[in-house]
Amino acid sequence: YMRRVDHQDTLKVVGQLAAGIAHEIRNPMTSLKGFIQLLEPNLKDHQKMYFEVINSELKRIETIMTEFLMLAKPKNTVFEKINLTRVLADTVDMMKPQAILHDVDIKFNARQSEHLTFGDANRLKQVFINLIKNALEAMPDKGEIFVSVETSGNQHLISVKDNGCGIPEEKLNKLNEPFFTTKVNGTGLGLPVSLKIIEEHQGTVNVISRLYEGTEFKIGLPLME
Ligand code: ADP
Ligand code: MG
Repeated sequence: YMRRVDHQDTLKVVGQLAAGIAHEIRNPMTSLKGFIQLLEPNLKDHQKMYFEVINSELKRIETIMTEFLMLAKPKNTVFEKINLTRVLADTVDMMKPQAILHDVDIKFNARQSEHLTFGDANRLKQVFINLIKNALEAMPDKGEIFVSVETSGNQHLISVKDNGCGIPEEKLNKLNEPFFTTKVNGTGLGLPVSLKIIEEHQGTVNVISRLYEGTEFKIGLPLME
Protein backbone atom coordinates (compact mmCIF):
# COMPACT_ATOMS: atom_id res chain seq x y z
CA TYR A 1 0.00 0.00 0.00
CA MET A 2 1.03 3.55 -0.60
CA ARG A 3 0.04 6.02 2.00
CA ARG A 4 0.76 9.68 2.21
CA VAL A 5 2.12 10.71 5.58
CA ASP A 6 0.63 14.07 6.32
CA HIS A 7 0.97 16.60 9.05
CA GLN A 8 -1.88 15.08 11.07
CA ASP A 9 -0.11 11.70 11.18
CA THR A 10 3.11 13.31 12.35
CA LEU A 11 1.23 15.17 15.06
CA LYS A 12 -0.42 11.96 16.19
CA VAL A 13 2.90 10.12 16.42
CA VAL A 14 4.52 13.00 18.29
CA GLY A 15 1.55 13.04 20.67
CA GLN A 16 1.81 9.31 21.35
CA LEU A 17 5.56 9.50 21.82
CA ALA A 18 5.26 12.42 24.21
CA ALA A 19 2.52 10.65 26.18
CA GLY A 20 4.73 7.56 26.39
CA ILE A 21 7.69 9.54 27.70
CA ALA A 22 5.51 11.44 30.16
CA HIS A 23 4.21 8.14 31.46
CA GLU A 24 7.73 6.69 31.80
CA ILE A 25 8.86 9.76 33.74
CA ARG A 26 6.13 9.33 36.31
CA ASN A 27 7.51 6.06 37.72
CA PRO A 28 11.00 7.31 38.59
CA MET A 29 9.30 10.47 39.92
CA THR A 30 7.30 8.40 42.38
CA SER A 31 10.41 6.73 43.70
CA LEU A 32 12.27 10.06 43.93
CA LYS A 33 9.42 11.48 45.96
CA GLY A 34 9.38 8.49 48.26
CA PHE A 35 13.12 8.41 48.96
CA ILE A 36 13.44 12.15 49.42
CA GLN A 37 10.82 11.94 52.19
CA LEU A 38 13.03 9.44 54.02
CA LEU A 39 15.83 12.01 54.17
CA GLU A 40 13.72 14.69 55.82
CA PRO A 41 14.05 13.75 59.53
CA ASN A 42 17.87 13.77 59.35
CA LEU A 43 18.38 17.09 57.63
CA LYS A 44 20.63 19.74 59.11
CA ASP A 45 19.12 23.23 59.35
CA HIS A 46 20.82 24.67 56.29
CA GLN A 47 19.73 21.66 54.22
CA LYS A 48 16.05 22.15 54.99
CA MET A 49 15.80 24.90 52.41
CA TYR A 50 17.28 22.63 49.73
CA PHE A 51 14.71 20.04 50.71
CA GLU A 52 11.86 22.54 50.24
CA VAL A 53 13.14 23.52 46.80
CA ILE A 54 13.51 19.91 45.68
CA ASN A 55 10.03 19.12 46.93
CA SER A 56 8.33 22.04 45.23
CA GLU A 57 10.16 21.39 41.97
CA LEU A 58 9.09 17.74 42.08
CA LYS A 59 5.51 18.90 42.61
CA ARG A 60 5.81 21.20 39.64
CA ILE A 61 7.04 18.40 37.36
CA GLU A 62 4.11 16.32 38.55
CA THR A 63 1.57 19.03 37.72
CA ILE A 64 3.02 19.50 34.25
CA MET A 65 3.01 15.75 33.63
CA THR A 66 -0.57 15.30 34.78
CA GLU A 67 -1.89 18.16 32.66
CA PHE A 68 0.26 17.19 29.70
CA LEU A 69 -0.96 13.59 29.81
CA MET A 70 -4.53 14.87 29.82
CA LEU A 71 -3.78 16.77 26.63
CA ALA A 72 -1.70 14.14 24.84
CA LYS A 73 -3.59 11.05 25.82
CA PRO A 74 -7.02 11.80 27.26
CA LYS A 75 -8.66 9.13 29.36
CA ASN A 76 -11.80 7.58 28.00
CA THR A 77 -14.58 9.94 28.81
CA VAL A 78 -17.63 8.60 30.56
CA PHE A 79 -20.65 10.33 29.08
CA GLU A 80 -23.89 10.28 31.00
CA LYS A 81 -26.86 12.49 31.77
CA ILE A 82 -25.60 15.27 34.05
CA ASN A 83 -27.01 18.43 35.58
CA LEU A 84 -24.71 21.41 34.91
CA THR A 85 -26.29 23.39 37.75
CA ARG A 86 -25.13 20.66 40.15
CA VAL A 87 -21.67 20.33 38.59
CA LEU A 88 -21.08 24.10 38.72
CA ALA A 89 -22.43 24.45 42.26
CA ASP A 90 -20.07 21.69 43.44
CA THR A 91 -17.12 23.27 41.67
CA VAL A 92 -17.84 26.73 43.09
CA ASP A 93 -18.14 25.28 46.62
CA MET A 94 -14.84 23.48 46.13
CA MET A 95 -13.06 26.66 45.02
CA LYS A 96 -14.44 28.92 47.78
CA PRO A 97 -11.60 28.33 50.28
CA GLN A 98 -9.01 29.29 47.63
CA ALA A 99 -11.06 32.35 46.73
CA ILE A 100 -11.20 33.47 50.35
CA LEU A 101 -7.39 33.31 50.49
CA HIS A 102 -7.31 35.71 47.52
CA ASP A 103 -9.98 37.94 49.12
CA VAL A 104 -12.22 37.11 46.18
CA ASP A 105 -15.96 36.58 46.27
CA ILE A 106 -17.41 33.93 43.95
CA LYS A 107 -21.05 34.42 43.00
CA PHE A 108 -22.99 31.61 41.36
CA ASN A 109 -26.25 32.07 39.54
CA ALA A 110 -28.20 29.31 37.80
CA ARG A 111 -31.25 30.28 35.76
CA GLN A 112 -32.84 26.88 36.40
CA SER A 113 -32.25 24.20 39.00
CA GLU A 114 -31.68 21.76 36.14
CA HIS A 115 -29.54 22.29 33.05
CA LEU A 116 -29.22 18.82 31.61
CA THR A 117 -26.56 17.75 29.16
CA PHE A 118 -24.79 14.58 28.10
CA GLY A 119 -21.24 14.65 29.39
CA ASP A 120 -18.46 13.64 31.75
CA ALA A 121 -19.00 15.52 35.04
CA ASN A 122 -15.43 15.06 36.28
CA ARG A 123 -13.84 16.34 33.10
CA LEU A 124 -16.21 19.31 32.95
CA LYS A 125 -15.39 20.06 36.60
CA GLN A 126 -11.74 20.16 35.56
CA VAL A 127 -12.62 22.83 32.97
CA PHE A 128 -14.52 24.98 35.48
CA ILE A 129 -11.72 24.61 38.04
CA ASN A 130 -9.17 25.76 35.44
CA LEU A 131 -11.28 28.81 34.53
CA ILE A 132 -11.94 29.80 38.15
CA LYS A 133 -8.25 29.33 39.02
CA ASN A 134 -7.25 31.59 36.13
CA ALA A 135 -9.78 34.17 37.29
CA LEU A 136 -8.34 34.04 40.83
CA GLU A 137 -4.81 34.39 39.50
CA ALA A 138 -5.90 37.43 37.47
CA MET A 139 -6.96 39.13 40.72
CA PRO A 140 -4.07 38.87 43.17
CA ASP A 141 -5.47 41.34 45.71
CA LYS A 142 -9.22 41.12 45.59
CA GLY A 143 -12.13 40.95 43.23
CA GLU A 144 -15.25 39.12 42.19
CA ILE A 145 -15.96 36.10 40.06
CA PHE A 146 -19.37 35.56 38.52
CA VAL A 147 -20.25 32.05 37.47
CA SER A 148 -23.57 31.49 35.72
CA VAL A 149 -25.48 29.00 33.64
CA GLU A 150 -28.57 29.47 31.51
CA THR A 151 -30.21 27.93 28.49
CA SER A 152 -30.21 30.03 25.37
CA GLY A 153 -31.57 28.75 22.08
CA ASN A 154 -30.29 25.24 21.48
CA GLN A 155 -27.50 25.30 24.04
CA HIS A 156 -26.53 25.80 27.66
CA LEU A 157 -24.40 28.88 28.19
CA ILE A 158 -21.91 28.90 31.03
CA SER A 159 -20.06 32.04 31.91
CA VAL A 160 -17.04 32.54 34.16
CA LYS A 161 -16.34 36.23 34.52
CA ASP A 162 -13.77 38.15 36.54
CA ASN A 163 -12.81 41.79 37.03
CA GLY A 164 -9.09 41.06 36.91
CA CYS A 165 -6.14 42.16 34.82
CA GLY A 166 -7.60 41.21 31.43
CA ILE A 167 -5.78 39.77 28.42
CA PRO A 168 -4.04 41.98 25.85
CA GLU A 169 -5.61 41.63 22.41
CA GLU A 170 -2.46 40.25 20.78
CA LYS A 171 -2.37 37.41 23.33
CA LEU A 172 -5.97 36.28 22.80
CA ASN A 173 -5.12 33.96 19.92
CA LYS A 174 -2.38 32.28 21.93
CA LEU A 175 -4.70 30.94 24.63
CA ASN A 176 -5.09 27.53 22.99
CA GLU A 177 -1.34 27.12 22.49
CA PRO A 178 0.11 24.52 24.87
CA PHE A 179 2.72 26.08 27.21
CA PHE A 180 1.64 29.67 26.57
CA THR A 181 1.75 31.32 29.99
CA THR A 182 2.40 34.78 31.42
CA LYS A 183 2.80 33.43 34.96
CA VAL A 184 6.06 32.69 36.79
CA ASN A 185 4.70 29.36 37.96
CA GLY A 186 2.25 28.71 35.14
CA THR A 187 2.21 25.61 32.98
CA GLY A 188 0.25 27.04 30.06
CA LEU A 189 -1.71 23.80 29.88
CA GLY A 190 -4.94 24.70 31.71
CA LEU A 191 -6.73 26.29 28.78
CA PRO A 192 -5.55 23.85 26.07
CA VAL A 193 -6.75 20.95 28.25
CA SER A 194 -10.06 22.76 28.87
CA LEU A 195 -10.59 23.45 25.18
CA LYS A 196 -9.96 19.83 24.38
CA ILE A 197 -12.51 18.67 26.95
CA ILE A 198 -15.14 21.10 25.64
CA GLU A 199 -14.46 19.94 22.08
CA GLU A 200 -15.05 16.36 23.18
CA HIS A 201 -18.44 17.54 24.41
CA GLN A 202 -19.26 19.17 21.04
CA GLY A 203 -19.20 22.50 22.81
CA THR A 204 -17.79 25.94 22.08
CA VAL A 205 -15.55 28.37 23.95
CA ASN A 206 -15.52 32.13 23.51
CA VAL A 207 -13.54 34.72 25.38
CA ILE A 208 -14.18 38.41 25.83
CA SER A 209 -11.52 40.44 27.56
CA ARG A 210 -10.63 44.02 28.28
CA LEU A 211 -7.21 44.93 29.59
CA TYR A 212 -7.33 46.06 33.25
CA GLU A 213 -11.10 45.50 33.34
CA GLY A 214 -11.64 41.78 33.22
CA THR A 215 -12.26 38.62 31.29
CA GLU A 216 -15.24 36.44 30.52
CA PHE A 217 -15.07 32.86 29.27
CA LYS A 218 -18.31 31.67 27.69
CA ILE A 219 -18.87 27.99 27.16
CA GLY A 220 -21.67 26.54 25.07
CA LEU A 221 -22.77 22.94 25.63
CA PRO A 222 -25.46 20.94 23.86
CA LEU A 223 -28.87 20.36 25.43
CA MET A 224 -29.82 16.88 26.54
CA GLU A 225 -32.14 15.42 23.90
P1 ADP B 1 -1.50 29.05 33.16
O1 ADP B 1 -2.66 29.44 34.03
O2 ADP B 1 -0.71 27.93 33.74
O3 ADP B 1 -0.65 30.23 32.76
P2 ADP B 1 -3.56 28.63 31.18
O4 ADP B 1 -3.60 27.79 29.94
O5 ADP B 1 -4.58 28.33 32.21
O6 ADP B 1 -2.10 28.47 31.79
O7 ADP B 1 -3.66 30.16 30.79
C1 ADP B 1 -2.76 30.70 29.84
C2 ADP B 1 -2.63 32.21 29.98
O8 ADP B 1 -3.85 32.85 29.60
C3 ADP B 1 -2.34 32.70 31.37
O9 ADP B 1 -0.97 32.64 31.69
C4 ADP B 1 -2.85 34.15 31.31
O10 ADP B 1 -1.90 35.00 30.71
C5 ADP B 1 -4.03 34.05 30.33
N1 ADP B 1 -5.31 33.99 31.05
C6 ADP B 1 -6.14 32.92 31.15
N2 ADP B 1 -7.26 33.21 31.85
C7 ADP B 1 -7.14 34.50 32.21
C8 ADP B 1 -7.99 35.42 32.96
N3 ADP B 1 -9.18 35.04 33.49
N4 ADP B 1 -7.53 36.70 33.12
C9 ADP B 1 -6.37 37.09 32.60
N5 ADP B 1 -5.53 36.29 31.89
C10 ADP B 1 -5.91 35.02 31.69
MG1 MG C 1 -4.36 28.20 34.35
